[in-house]
Amino acid sequence: MKVVKTVLLRVYEPNKEKRELLDRTFFLYAEVLKFYLEVIRKAGIYRVVSLSKKRALTFLESITVSTKSHPNPSYPIEEAIKTPVQTNIRRSAINKAYGMVKSYVSNLKNWYKEGRELGHRKPSYPNPKNFSLTYYATDVELQDIFLRDGKELHFVRLKVLSESGNYRKRNYPVKVYKRLFDLIDSGYVPKNTATLIKRDKEFYVALTLEKTLKKRKLTKPKTVINVDLNVERNLACVGVFEIDWKRKDSRLKEIHFINGELLRLVRKRDYLLEEIRTKQRLTGRSPTKEDCKRLWKKVNNLNRDIALKTAREIAKIAKDYEDAVVVFEKLTGLRGEKKQKSKKLNRKLTYWLRKRITDRVKELSIEEGFSVDFVYPGWTSKKCSLCGAKGERFSPSGSTALFRCPSCGYTVNADVNAVFNQHFLYLSHLLTGRRDEGGRRDSVVSPETSLKSPLVGTQSKGSLKSNSYVCI
Ligand SMILES: [Zn+2]
Repeated sequence: MKVVKTVLLRVYEPNKEKRELLDRTFFLYAEVLKFYLEVIRKAGIYRVVSLSKKRALTFLESITVSTKSHPNPSYPIEEAIKTPVQTNIRRSAINKAYGMVKSYVSNLKNWYKEGRELGHRKPSYPNPKNFSLTYYATDVELQDIFLRDGKELHFVRLKVLSESGNYRKRNYPVKVYKRLFDLIDSGYVPKNTATLIKRDKEFYVALTLEKTLKKRKLTKPKTVINVDLNVERNLACVGVFEIDWKRKDSRLKEIHFINGELLRLVRKRDYLLEEIRTKQRLTGRSPTKEDCKRLWKKVNNLNRDIALKTAREIAKIAKDYEDAVVVFEKLTGLRGEKKQKSKKLNRKLTYWLRKRITDRVKELSIEEGFSVDFVYPGWTSKKCSLCGAKGERFSPSGSTALFRCPSCGYTVNADVNAVFNQHFLYLSHLLTGRRDEGGRRDSVVSPETSLKSPLVGTQSKGSLKSNSYVCI
């Protein structure tokens, strides 16, 4: 898998002439991009996005550029744009337009699926205001900026459009930051392309650096980190287990609860949600109406924040262990439940949050060098982690849920119980190589040989960081 980093270099005080050259190039690019967005709309959005990027490029060129094989294109570019358009600018614009339309189509699909109900704004056909121009290898020379000669300013050579309609390469000074060399030193390879960006009257050259990282597939992890994304009480309950491959069992190292500051964000979000519901009740209107939009935007931003921060906390734990695999329960999707609307909405938000967290942890795992795996959920919250009987949850204080087993009398924090069950499922998968897709059957190694938990009724406190219980 490729990890991509971007470094933004500001074009350092270009003089009037050089600035005009950039502006002119930008203006033309913007025109070409608008032209192709219009062509895609006329030629059929779905027809274009069903093609691969490469085929779409060929197709769009064939209907806009006259060649020997296509002497009369349906939408000739020379008629729409008077300035001669250089091939690289045209291709850059086509690729950009294709990407924009493609993401528009996928956003639209998502909007029909759930966004409409969540009060998101209906996506509109791309009509960009800020353009970024991607220069391809043949049009840009970057060598100078990689010289480590201690000079503050280096040059990027860019091909720009002159007043007479000619293209030529010019030097643009940029300040090079230490971060660029830090990335190169840690194995990132700069791509020979640059993206030109104009923002607040300043020009920037964005460089992309790539590093190919192997997704780690651990067959014999030393550490298994089971995560229960309960999301409602604790955002996450994380159990760290050390695997003893010789004795074929595992030992609990520590348990973390991720909440604290994050839980405050959740409360803030829930307060906003309640406000939305009250408004709905009072006005009898759906949450898509204007006055709720603002609230929904806040809720969605909070959700994103919560997800990213939770993922970071999980990755932080995993980073500290050697050969670690982080295990989540596989998300089973949203089934068409015919419950109360508010309950369905809650489930959707929870699902979305979980998905966001696991996706982010997957990304982080590649950068930080741990691996990620999934188990199919199998009654992990209903089963007693000590004897396997079906138990029940109860909340003595309201904030924490406990689990009690009627068969053996075991009482434990409900989230911890779920983490243990999930761990047994995964351990059994590791030791036997079997993975029960249904997960419902008792494919669990005998728990008493693996774990004896002293964690009876642990309370999660709202500290700033995740709090942990170290068990010996
Ligand atoms: Zn029991």
